[in-house]
Amino acid sequence: MDDKLMLMIPGPTPVPERVLQAMAKHPIGHRTGEFSEIVAAVDVDLKWLHQTQNDVLVVAASGTGAMEAGIINFFSAGDRVLVCGNGKFGDRWIKLAKAYGLNVEVMQEDWGKPLDPDAIGAILQADTGKTIKGVVFTHSETSSGVLNDLAAINRHVKDHGEALIIVDAVTSLGAISVPVDELELDVVASGSQKGYMIPPGLGFVSVSAKAWAAYDKATLPKFYFDLGTYRKNAAKNLTPFTPPINLYFALQASLQMMRQEGLESIFARHSRLQAATRAGVKALGFGLFAPDSHASPAVTAATPPEGIAAGDISKILSKRFDISIAGGQDHLKGKIIRIGHLGFISDRDVLMTIAALEATLLELGYTGFTPGSGVAAAAKAFQ
Ligand SMILES: *Cc1c(COP(=O)(O)O)cnc(C)c1O
Repeated sequence: MDDKLMLMIPGPTPVPERVLQAMAKHPIGHRTGEFSEIVAAVDVDLKWLHQTQNDVLVVAASGTGAMEAGIINFFSAGDRVLVCGNGKFGDRWIKLAKAYGLNVEVMQEDWGKPLDPDAIGAILQADTGKTIKGVVFTHSETSSGVLNDLAAINRHVKDHGEALIIVDAVTSLGAISVPVDELELDVVASGSQKGYMIPPGLGFVSVSAKAWAAYDKATLPKFYFDLGTYRKNAAKNLTPFTPPINLYFALQASLQMMRQEGLESIFARHSRLQAATRAGVKALGFGLFAPDSHASPAVTAATPPEGIAAGDISKILSKRFDISIAGGQDHLKGKIIRIGHLGFISDRDVLMTIAALEATLLELGYTGFTPGSGVAAAAKAFQ
C-alpha cells in the first residue's frame, strides 16, 4: 500500500508532518534578513539540544561529513590519536583518521561489546609524555546497538589532560543526554536524519574552547569543512556557502517540536522505547545483541530464534506490513535484525512493530513462542 511505510530503521528516521510542511516551499535567499533570523533561531536551539554554550556549527553533509570536520580541523599530519571502535561506525573513525595521515592507535572491542573505559584509561595513563592528542569514539554504536559509557571514558580523558575528546553522537544526541558543557566534550558530531527528525543533509559539530585552541595549531588541509569559516559566518547569522535552505526550514520546525516536548521527556521516551523493544523481542525468543547495561536508546539489535533467517524477517515485515527494519552490517549481515526507535517514534510504533514481528514469525512457521507474548512484554515495559 502506498504511503503506509513505517520507518523503524536507525536512520533516516520518520519526519513529522509539521516538518514536511515547513520544507514544502520555495527556498529563500540565504543572504536575506529572513534567512538570518532562521540561522539565529536554530543556533539557540542547537545549543539547547547540546546543553552547551559552545559553538554548534552546521555543515551541508551527512553525519560522516560532520565526523570528517571533527578530525581535519583539530589535528596535523602525524598527530597521535587513540581511536576506539566496537562496530561499523568505530571502523569509520579509524579509516577517516588514517585517510588524513594521523598516527592512529586503534583500540578495538568485538561488535556487541561495550568499549572498556579502564582499558582506555590505562593507555592514557601510560602516555606520560602526553603525545595522545585526541580520543575518538562512537557514543551509540548503531551497527550493534551498544551504548558506550561516555562519562566514564571522558573521566579518563580529563585525567590525561592533553587529549581532546571527540565523539560521534549521531544516534545518541536527541535520544539520551549528551551534556556537552557538564562533561566538557570537545567535539561532538551528529547528523540530521537521526534524532533531529528531519531528512538527511545536515551535519552538526559542537566545538569547545580547548578544541578551538587546537584548531589554531592544526595544519591538516581543509577548505569546505574549515569550521573557522563557519564560526565567523555564524557570528553574523550567516552561512559561508549556499546551505540546504529547505532543510533549515525543517530544522527550525523540528527543534521547536523538541523544545515543546522538552529534553527530559525526549530522553524518557527513548528510554521507554528501548525497554519495550528489548522486552518485546526477548519474549519472542530473540537474543539481545547488546547487554542491558549498555543498550542504545536509538536502536535494538537482536539475533533471531534458531532456524529463522534475519533476512526473511525483514522481507516479510516490509512486504506484508510495510515496516522497514535494518539488518546487520559487514560480518553481521544475515545474523541480526536492527529495530530503530529514534526520533519521531512513539510507543504505538513499537507496539505495532512487535505485533507485526509476531505475525511474521507465525508466517515463517516458527512456533517457539506464545502469540501475544511479545506485545504483552512490550506493553508491560511501557507501564
Ligand atoms: C548514521 C550514522 C553516522 C553517519 O552516517 P551518514 O550516512 O554519513 O549520515 C555516523 N555515526 C553513526 C553512529 C551513525 O548511526
